[in-house]
Order: sequence, then structure tokens, then C-alpha cells
Amino acid sequence: MLKRFVIQLVLLISISSLIAFLLHSLGVSLLIGFLSGLFLQFVGYNAFYSALDAYLAIKNKALENERIKEFSYQGLQVACPCYKKHIDFVPVRLNTSNYYKCGECKKNVSIIIAAETAITTEPIVNTDLPTVNQKLIEGVISNANS
Ligand SMILES: [Zn+2]
Repeated sequence: MLKRFVIQLVLLISISSLIAFLLHSLGVSLLIGFLSGLFLQFVGYNAFYSALDAYLAIKNKALENERIKEFSYQGLQVACPCYKKHIDFVPVRLNTSNYYKCGECKKNVSIIIAAETAITTEPIVNTDLPTVNQKLIEGVISNANS
């Protein structure tokens, strides 16, 4: 830790000195060159870490969104059997027993999946019959003619 600090301090001073000598060759005083070198390094350091933080936050958010998306394929909204009936969205897998910890009472809750069946209906595809609107329009026309 101390070794790392000394290395960083030596780097900071040597880069500031280099900037000071470069600016001195352009006619700027050594002290002002050194101080502006220090200032530039601190600004650069902060800018770099701010950009890195923003990049990591965006990356983490993308990963979280992906995880949520995966959950939505195999997840259920379930209510805890405790008196608070807290609703949690939990991942569900059909090949194992499913448990989760209630977000409200912090108890372990088991999920029992009961399957129900229903006969599917098919949509009516016969369009030979006139629609209700057509019948109404025909009725209005025949009434107007009579
Ligand atoms: Zn609960």
C-alpha cells in the first residue's frame, strides 16, 4: 500500500516536472508549469474515472436488463402465504424444487406449480356470412327506399 502510494507520488511529480520543463521551454515559469501539470493530472484522473464509472454503470444496467429478460421467460409473480401477502417476481424452473425468500417477512417460501388444462378454441374462418355492419347498412338502405 505504501509502496503503491510512493510510486504514484513519484509518477505525479515526474510527470508534473516534465510538463513544467516543456512549458518552461515555451517561456512559462517553472512553478506555474509544475502547478498546472499537477492540476492537469488531477483533472485527467477525475475525468478518466468518471468516464469509467459511467461506462461500468451502463454495462451493469445492460447486464441487469438481460437478466430480467431471462427471468421473464421463466418466472412467476407469486404472493407469499404470510399475512402480508407480499408479491414477488421469482424465477421458476420445472426440473427442480422452487424456493425463494419473501422480500417482506424474509421467510423461505416453496412454490407449488399446479397445471390446469383447457381445450383450445379455433377462430371462425368462414367469412361468407355478412358482417353485422353490412346487415345494418343494408337495412338502412332498404328502409330509405321503401
Ligand atoms: Zn412473506
